[in-house]
Amino acid sequence: MSRRAVVTGAGGFIGHHMVRYLKQKGYWVRAADTTLPDYSATSADEFLLIDLREFTPCMAACDGMDEVYQLAADMGGIAYITSYHADVARNNVLINAHMVEAATRHRVSRYFYSSSACVYPMYRQTDAAVTPLKEEDAYPADPEEGYGWEKLYSEKLCEYYRKESKIETRVARFHNIYGPLGTYDGGREKAPAAICRKIALAHNGDTIEVWGDGLQTRSFTYIDDCVEGIYRIMHSDYREPLNLGSEEMVTIDELVDMVIRISGKGLRKRHDSTKPQGVRGRNSDNSRLRRVLGWEPGLRLEEGLRRTYTWIESELRRRGRLPQLPDEIAGPSEHGLIVHATEGV
Ligand code: NAD
Repeated sequence: MSRRAVVTGAGGFIGHHMVRYLKQKGYWVRAADTTLPDYSATSADEFLLIDLREFTPCMAACDGMDEVYQLAADMGGIAYITSYHADVARNNVLINAHMVEAATRHRVSRYFYSSSACVYPMYRQTDAAVTPLKEEDAYPADPEEGYGWEKLYSEKLCEYYRKESKIETRVARFHNIYGPLGTYDGGREKAPAAICRKIALAHNGDTIEVWGDGLQTRSFTYIDDCVEGIYRIMHSDYREPLNLGSEEMVTIDELVDMVIRISGKGLRKRHDSTKPQGVRGRNSDNSRLRRVLGWEPGLRLEEGLRRTYTWIESELRRRGRLPQLPDEIAGPSEHGLIVHATEGV
């Protein structure tokens, strides 16, 4: 019989990809979220539209499952998570406290919790030439207000449940996950998607706005590497939090320049330092991830951005925000239906 897994947050970016990944592995998959995925249909066997801040829906989500992938969270880009500390912290602490207890009561064999690089202390991220962050650097704690404190607390909650032999937990700290089928507009989008959207909508010779002075640094992890890493961490024997990120650090200006190159347009940048930009520098140290898994995210940033840009551009065309390409206007060709770039990614 196939293994049974529930993916919570399956209407969101990572959860949607995780469902697809598990289906390809032969799992029977239940999905749970308050909303369906925005950009393509779910491949889950069952989709529960439920609010996981309540305990009873969490019990329904975990009923009969072997594995739980807890990817539901109230979250967004830097502007969102720095504006709503109370809502984000309350909503997420309720989801995580109820989910780990429901999974325990249903005796699921493994529980995966999606933490974040936002748990790392602000005092270690004040320089653009940042020392890559090792797992033990999370303490003494001084994480991102609201969102980061909740993540750190929920990591601890998983540790307490595991140490008291209630349930086997696994924890990954994601570093800036990006790729096709992620939010690219509306205020919750992250930097790579926002930059791809701005550049796709710009005309040759335009100036695009970049938040901050462009010299802040980050690393970015492609979504396929993320879901592969989640699965590997879930099935490893390693029980403490692990970084799940890329070590390919760039400045935000370098990120923007890569996307401009991909677009083939001639564009200028204007920096707006009044906009939120988060910590000054952040990069993942993957030494432990490599030691534990013998694996780490491998897709080069430029290739991941090419795939992401292609998808966002095709979405903007599909929604009428960019002119359609001549072959799309012509309708189905003699080779059959037009395939949008959203398919097969
Ligand atoms: P996302 O916002 O795309 O998906 C989260 C999903 O959770 C959404 O579909 C949302 O509707 C759902 N959700 C929120 N509140 C809910 C509730 N009360 N009940 C049911 N569902 C609810 O985010 P994502 O990028 O897919 O992130 C997945 C996980 O990874 C989250 O825990 C997030 O904190 C973590 N994470 C993501 C990143 C990143 O770069 N994307 C980085 C670090 C950590």
